[in-house]
Amino acid sequence: MNNNNSLDYKALFLGPNSENSNAFSEILNSLFQDHVYWRKNFHPEDPDVITSNVKNNENFKYTLEKMKSVFDDMSKRLRENATPWHSPRYLGHMNSETLVPGLLGYFGAMLYNLNNVAYESSEPTSVMEKEVGEDFCKLMEYPKGWGHICADGSIANYEAIWYARNLKSLPFAIEEVEPELVKGKSKWELLNMPIEDIINILELSNNKMDILKSHSARSLATEIQDLGVWLVPETKHYSWLKAADILGIGTHNLIPIKLDNHYRMNLTELKNTIDSYISKGTPILGLVAVVGTTEEGAVDYVDKILELKNQYAKNGINFYFHIDAAYGGYARSIFLDENYNFIDKNDLKNKFAENNIFYNKDLNWPSEDIYNAFKAMKYADSITIDPHKMGYIPYSAGGIVIKDKRMRDSISYFASYVFEKGVKVPALLGAFIMEGSKSGAAAASVWAAHRVLPLNVTGYGKLIGASIEGAYNLYDYISNKKYFTVNDKKVYVEPLTIPDFNMVDFVLNVEGNKDLNSLNKLNEDLYNLSSIFSPDIYSNGFVTSHTDFSMADYSDSPLDILQRLNVPKEEWDKVKNLTLLRACVLSPFLNDPEVFKEYIPKVESNIIRKLSLLVK
Ligand SMILES: *Cc1c(COP(=O)(O)O)cnc(C)c1O
Repeated sequence: MNNNNSLDYKALFLGPNSENSNAFSEILNSLFQDHVYWRKNFHPEDPDVITSNVKNNENFKYTLEKMKSVFDDMSKRLRENATPWHSPRYLGHMNSETLVPGLLGYFGAMLYNLNNVAYESSEPTSVMEKEVGEDFCKLMEYPKGWGHICADGSIANYEAIWYARNLKSLPFAIEEVEPELVKGKSKWELLNMPIEDIINILELSNNKMDILKSHSARSLATEIQDLGVWLVPETKHYSWLKAADILGIGTHNLIPIKLDNHYRMNLTELKNTIDSYISKGTPILGLVAVVGTTEEGAVDYVDKILELKNQYAKNGINFYFHIDAAYGGYARSIFLDENYNFIDKNDLKNKFAENNIFYNKDLNWPSEDIYNAFKAMKYADSITIDPHKMGYIPYSAGGIVIKDKRMRDSISYFASYVFEKGVKVPALLGAFIMEGSKSGAAAASVWAAHRVLPLNVTGYGKLIGASIEGAYNLYDYISNKKYFTVNDKKVYVEPLTIPDFNMVDFVLNVEGNKDLNSLNKLNEDLYNLSSIFSPDIYSNGFVTSHTDFSMADYSDSPLDILQRLNVPKEEWDKVKNLTLLRACVLSPFLNDPEVFKEYIPKVESNIIRKLSLLVK
């Protein structure tokens, strides 16, 4: 290899037709053989326990046969009914091809069965997890941060509320235990202390940390629901409801903020909501911005939200700020140069060209809004980022990063004397996270992928770019198509918005139809013929997913697309629901114009074939 080499991610996927199966099985086999010898080499002098005598016995043979038949059955079930996400014909849910280093990292480490709950039971994979946490910190530009892998993004979100809740309750614990540290502060001031000040005080009172923690929200010394409301955009993932429930915030204190036409949190609505709570004397416990919403891929105005937050801080109003980037977090890699510096806006096009990010050198992404949002992420208190989403890692691998490592003191179950004795930390990851026993293999999987593909424009950035360009290819196709001709009728197709990221939602409507129920039925029916539940998945030439926007969740945001589909507002007021088709373009191959040209006519003819069954 010479220094001019750059990464080609096409070497890193098994491929739609298993094109890379030889490389895959070669590494798979060598990882397995290494493990075999690892066992033998522990004490080569020890005799075999499973001897040839044992292997010759009838029950032994019977048992092997039985196991094989179970695997035949399992393999059949998997092949018959699994989601065929490996094909570029799959334009559906967030399932996709996963990275070979992720798969083999998992497999290789799984054989050693290490438990990352504690260093002692997982030396190699615990160190890998620590390094993955450092990768996340580089990605988010968190020089003093800390991160770890958890089972999923939902748990990462619970952990964010756990931090916010405990930190925001600490001023009251301090008032009880060390009153001189917050002398003269009113209740409102205690409820509105900046997170950084709270962490500083916690550090100051190191020898009393355990007592302080026992007076925090953890022990109910503070009324959790007095800490205030938790603001989320209407596009929120439903894990926030569960989080508010489990952590005692109360789902009634989870306040959805309305959206703008891009399905991003509406800043005026946000400001009005904050003002109205403050005027009632209700504090804001925390605020969530979403980078890559689950149903639309929308990216909230992180920079402008921070500006607003800073304005409030000037007036003594402070709250926790979390970014739910479970889906979009890895996309920050596209903005970082090889030294993990955020690329200047004016250099971005050149950097993209240098690293072959897009086939189409004129691709109009990112917009100013998207660029600014990603840039500002580094100011959040914490960020959820899922390797099993845009990290192309097999399940289960979610993750969270916090801006300041000291925040951990607010949630840990590690007696502080352990730190003083200089014990190697984290000797017990389980003390700092929601979970207990956890997969070392998942950490190895993420670690291996990050080692092959660094989290910047030379690595993951290429993969993210491929996905975005694929989505734009689809978006452009749909926008230019305008309608399909089916049984002499025009069936219009309308995209929801121009994608902020890599998701294309769209809606079909028969020419002249103004009835929202029948519009919804058409989209629902097409989905049923194009989903993994459709009668014969093998003959299904195009597979997609769908979603529903209800008035309860989305207020009047769908009016914009309904207007473009010529459906009157009265219909929306009556039906209060819109059914959409949803394509997460995770395939790393649909960016290639040749591949897109090959597949899109197949997708189109399948849509028309299915529509012809529905539109008579
Ligand atoms: C997927 C997702 C989650 C939840 O992640 P899981 O890993 O499915 O638990 C949270 N937030 C957003 C925005 C997501 O897209």
